[in-house]
Amino acid sequence: MTDIRELLLSRIRDVADYPEPGVMFKDITPLLADPGAFTALTDELARIAERHAATKIVGLEARGFILGAPVAVRAGLGFIPVRKAGKLPGATLRQSYDLEYGSAEIEVHAEDLSAGDRVLVVDDVLATGGTAEASLQLIRRAGAEVAGVAVLMELAFLGGRARLEPALEGAPLEAL
Ligand code: AMP
Repeated sequence: MTDIRELLLSRIRDVADYPEPGVMFKDITPLLADPGAFTALTDELARIAERHAATKIVGLEARGFILGAPVAVRAGLGFIPVRKAGKLPGATLRQSYDLEYGSAEIEVHAEDLSAGDRVLVVDDVLATGGTAEASLQLIRRAGAEVAGVAVLMELAFLGGRARLEPALEGAPLEAL
């Protein structure tokens, strides 16, 4: 685990003041470009999915799609995209959540999740936790169960874990 942590960390680029002043952007494109690191990450996330008996993988737009899709294939599970509002063509469930200034909305195809599903949410970065929290609300509104949340990185100083905790209802949050 320590070795994989070091490998993954070495492939994440910190970009200061992007997309706005004061933000340290965690750029995962060097990791995606390295097949060894990308495979190690995929394998680790697939093990988490298996450990928590997930039956579906939800990826959060947009980098959660890139990380979550190969995990779903590796674990032999279906992949469900949670998208920003207005992008999915079918009947959707929509959830709004607060941002520092204003609010945002995410959606999932209503038919993609149902009772009996155990869902692992995958994303690259847990920051304030608002997006992940809204995704858990969507999963529960669809009647499905939350198997957990797995992220590559947690920006602990932003307090996302504490914000997410009530919505997790005891399910695990795993940050690699
Ligand atoms: P939040 O809802 O605040 O937890 O934000 C999570 C979403 O924003 C994730 O999908 C991340 O991809 C993205 N994000 C937030 N902060 C950063 C950051 N510093 N570097 C890269 N991505 C970020």
